[in-house]
Amino acid sequence: MALQRLHVLLCRNQNPLCGERIVLPYGSPIGISLYQWYWPTDSEMITLACPNCGLLSVHFRSDVHLVGMPPENPNLPPSVLWRVEFGCAQHNCDLPVVVHTRTEADAPPDEPYLLVRAAKPVACCADGHPLRDAAKERLADVINFRR
Ligand SMILES: [Zn+2]
Ligand SMILES: [Zn+2]
Repeated sequence: MALQRLHVLLCRNQNPLCGERIVLPYGSPIGISLYQWYWPTDSEMITLACPNCGLLSVHFRSDVHLVGMPPENPNLPPSVLWRVEFGCAQHNCDLPVVVHTRTEADAPPDEPYLLVRAAKPVACCADGHPLRDAAKERLADVINFRR
């Protein structure tokens, strides 16, 4: 079967080796005919909560790998990339805690939040306040990269 060439981020966990590959979806920004891969417009980095091993790790564009992967099995639900946001629970801090993660498309709606809450080390807002139990769930968006 022909391999698809996809842009992926690799989980950084080497001990034990995790091997989780998170696909950055393709899209076509309006007015540009070339397809390109998703990257948040508001950040130089993506903080990933690995759905396989639970490691939280930070990735930059230079960490993106182009790999050949077999097409997803049409008999299984496809996996989707999420942008998850919590409101920082630190007093007088209004910054979001933003983390990306992956689930199956038919996962329960709270699964992306649970994956991010369980990830270690604990995610932080841009001012470095760690995600606390009291942090409010603000947003969990499936990335359908169509700008
Ligand atoms: Zn992992
Ligand atoms: Zn904060």
